[in-house]
Amino acid sequence: IIKNTRFALHKAKLNGKNRFEFFDKADYANYIKRLEIQGELRSSVNDNFKGFELFYQPIVDADTGRIEGAEALLRWKSDQYGFMSPVEFIPLLEESSLIIPLGSWIIDTAAAQCNEWVKIIPQFVMHINLSFVQIAKSNVIKDVIENINKYEAGNEHFVFEITESIQMDSNIAIKRVLKEFVDNGFLLAIDDFGTGYSSLSHIRELPIDIIKIDRCFVIDLGKDDYAETFVRMVAELADTIGVRMCVEGVEDDGQLQILKDMKKVQYIQGYYYDKPLTEEAFEKKYL
Ligand code: C2E
Ligand code: CA
Ligand code: CA
Repeated sequence: IIKNTRFALHKAKLNGKNRFEFFDKADYANYIKRLEIQGELRSSVNDNFKGFELFYQPIVDADTGRIEGAEALLRWKSDQYGFMSPVEFIPLLEESSLIIPLGSWIIDTAAAQCNEWVKIIPQFVMHINLSFVQIAKSNVIKDVIENINKYEAGNEHFVFEITESIQMDSNIAIKRVLKEFVDNGFLLAIDDFGTGYSSLSHIRELPIDIIKIDRCFVIDLGKDDYAETFVRMVAELADTIGVRMCVEGVEDDGQLQILKDMKKVQYIQGYYYDKPLTEEAFEKKYL
């Protein structure tokens, strides 16, 4: 009883104090599941990143359909729950800061891969996602430079994707880190643009090279004027200041045509071309 009461009390505090909260069995089960998964994630990280793998989704030139690069996307298989979505397990890695050592492994693995693929596709660019936790709580730039300098492929073959967030706008330290990326010749992309906290002033203030428009706008293309106008407007703005646009989540030809007609979208990523592929499948198809 005391254990369950404490759990309810904790939830009441989380939800804003000075309130009642009933103990909820399903909530508790969910909490226990998260703890279990976090434990498993920790073992995976400590066991030389066993169970983690990177998949690669092609990014193509909107005009020519030529492959320009790929985004590295993390996969993880839990012993208990099987394959889980990164949307579920990445927040747990962030909460526990496990994303810091794992992030370093991701950078190293993607860099080694990029180094091989650049030999065959000279323009190849590898996109790597960075978590806000890596930027805020570790010396991420040192990590990146150390991992990438081991290989021949130049820094211009790497794009680091960061999700737009409120911290980015207000935090001077973050801006300084981002500037270091650019000063070292890496490329920066702002991810999931248009969702959550969207400030168009970002486009101008941050040293970014690419804007990635979120999938939710693509779903509504052709159905909803707002989505189309939004994409067109961001594309115009980006074009004016020399920032390139990548649209994610393109699944069909109709969506592709609308984007191509805008003339200001450079890159397309989505199931229309391919889902994220294993290293072997990617090599077989694109190399
Ligand atoms: P994201 O960075 O926005 O990655 C794009 C997501 O959209 C991927 O989901 C991809 O599989 C999915 N996607 C791409 N094209 C389509 C499409 O045409 N239709 C649909 N329905 N989906 C499409 P995924 O791989 O499940 O990753 C989810 C999120 O997890 C990523 O979103 C990213 O925020 C995070 N993530 C994945 N790998 C990493 C990583 O290595 N590090 C960090 N920090 N985050 C990662
Ligand atoms: Ca991304
Ligand atoms: Ca995205």
